[in-house]
Amino acid sequence: MTDLIIIGGGPAALSCALTARQRNLDCLVVCADTNSGWLARAESLDNYPGMPHVSGRELLRVFRAQAEEAGASFMSGVARQIQPMGSEFMVLVGNDVLETKAVVLAMGAARPALLPGEEDLLGRGVSWCGTCDGMFYRGKRVAVLSAWNGGAEEAEFLAGLCASVDYYTLKPHDVPADERITQRSEKVRGLAAGENRQITVETADGSVSYDGVFVFRPAVAPDRLLPGLALNGGFVSVDRRMATSVPLVYACGDCTGQPLQVAKAVGEGNVAAISASEDLARG
Ligand SMILES: Cc1cc2nc3c(=O)[nH]c(=O)nc-3n(C[C@H](O)[C@H](O)[C@H](O)COP(=O)(O)OP(=O)(O)OC[C@H]3O[C@@H](n4cnc5c(N)ncnc54)[C@H](O)[C@@H]3O)c2cc1C
Repeated sequence: MTDLIIIGGGPAALSCALTARQRNLDCLVVCADTNSGWLARAESLDNYPGMPHVSGRELLRVFRAQAEEAGASFMSGVARQIQPMGSEFMVLVGNDVLETKAVVLAMGAARPALLPGEEDLLGRGVSWCGTCDGMFYRGKRVAVLSAWNGGAEEAEFLAGLCASVDYYTLKPHDVPADERITQRSEKVRGLAAGENRQITVETADGSVSYDGVFVFRPAVAPDRLLPGLALNGGFVSVDRRMATSVPLVYACGDCTGQPLQVAKAVGEGNVAAISASEDLARG
């Protein structure tokens, strides 16, 4: 059981982790990949106080080093779901279920672009979680459509359960080197409901039907991550304490909206950690 799980690895998450540690909270930062956030793409920043002309990667490196030195823990993976359980939360990260007393959302503003047909078929043959839904496809034919390395691990897990696993690459990444998994080179265009409750993967070269289709990306939309979370124009609604509509869940950085700037992300991360520490102390 951790005091605080922070989802994201950009400036908002790292600032939040630093302040959380200074407030003596156990904290775990869960991040798909520190260099996958927006800041890693900034060649040079001229508006971050005290560090003129710094590159985004260098700023991330020093932020992370300081948070690590303060005692924050880090875990590599995508948070797929947050489930409130009484006074605690279960957070599903890859194939692990973590427990925490409070959560901070710091996932940035990037939103996954879904495939045509994907959202309609979610829960009806299409899944975003091998651990949660894999057992429904025991002995069946499935496809994995992945935009990142995390899909390789999920495909290997599914290969242990399913009769066959075909692997389609949505964006370039290291694909699984497992003889139980068949690599498909076709470019995926969309998903459709097929006959006998099958799901059809539509590609530039035709279509192939499966019993189930698993789609993996390094991000999840906030309201999918935590059902019932109030949004405003796609961004997480927060008050001045960075509290969201769900008690003991806070948000900071680009995921709360404009301005999308590092200084604002860092400030909000600091406020979120202070609010979490105050609310946890109150019990
Ligand atoms: C090219 C470019 C140039 C920029 N230049 C400037 C500038 O000069 N000055 C300035 O102030 N700002 C600049 N920005 C904006 C700045 O980068 C962002 O405002 C800042 O990075 C926001 O920080 P964040 O922590 O909120 O989100 P991000 O930096 O986007 O970090 C979010 C992190 O969360 C991770 N994540 C997302 N979902 C999950 C999940 N479900 N589970 C686990 N991890 C997850 C992502 O992989 C990512 O690492 C620039 C942005 C870009 C793209």
